[in-house]
Amino acid sequence: MLRLSPIPDNGANQLASPMSKPRLDGKVAIVTGGASGIGAATARLFASSGATVVVADIQDALGEAVAASAGPGCTYVRCDVTDEAQVEAAVRGAVAAHGRLDVMVSNAGVLLPTGSVMEMDLAELDRVMSVNFRGAAACIKHAARAMVSRGGAIVCTASVASLQGGFGPASYTASKHALLGLVRAAAGELGRNGVRVNCVSPSGVATPLSCALMGVAPQELEAMTVPHNVLRGKVLRAEDVAEAALFLASDQAAFISGHNLVVDGATTAVNPAVL
Ligand code: NAD
Repeated sequence: MLRLSPIPDNGANQLASPMSKPRLDGKVAIVTGGASGIGAATARLFASSGATVVVADIQDALGEAVAASAGPGCTYVRCDVTDEAQVEAAVRGAVAAHGRLDVMVSNAGVLLPTGSVMEMDLAELDRVMSVNFRGAAACIKHAARAMVSRGGAIVCTASVASLQGGFGPASYTASKHALLGLVRAAAGELGRNGVRVNCVSPSGVATPLSCALMGVAPQELEAMTVPHNVLRGKVLRAEDVAEAALFLASDQAAFISGHNLVVDGATTAVNPAVL
């Protein structure tokens, strides 16, 4: 489980201005789970980086609002990723409307309190897997079908829970480990078609998902950080994760596939006992 402690606001939470930012000009992207949190930040950043974005989610009002604020041409589609037919329809709809699909961000995810391993609610485990793993599989499958003729980029939001236990319930950890395996397998298969498949793996970000885990209000979580995060004074934000996804989606990452880009301020790189 992530443990949080308050940190002072020392102004270190500003993004640097890279010399040459990745761009997605002329590209068409779908962002699942785009109505909230990391997905919403990704949809907005992709749109401001030149992409036409289709926000896909099950929260219609929020999704419509994100699409409207993202930029001209951006739209919302209701898409429950646990229903393969809805994923297929969302992909077909994007291609019909825009003539192509260049980027799929498979980001929709849930974290449910499935209990300790010995108490695990297996019905809840199925729900977690159906969104975080099976839903991502549907997104990869149908995006890849739309991309094989001209190439494309698929970016999945995994988690530091794809690498270690202890960042959430076992069901969540298992779903993200499975997702990472799927991404690696898909990258190997789809590379010959010019389709790159990668993950971003954030640590804790203040979103409805993580606030529910912590039992805190979002406004509280924004002033907190993980105590063993070596980038002290820096709070990981949804926008930071979106920047990593933007890089992987862009042509600047043209030879990067099968990679898990960890965005955690070295949390998983360092033995916490030495910090
Ligand atoms: P969030 O709750 O803000 O956003 C998740 C979105 O997914 C919501 O808009 C929700 O409606 C949507 N969603 C849920 N089930 C869906 C379904 N069946 N079909 C379509 N959309 C569905 O949470 P977030 O933190 O932004 O999570 C985004 C991704 O980031 C998730 O995959 C999550 O596991 C991952 N992640 C989050 C954190 C964190 O600390 N917040 C850390 C690591 C990874």
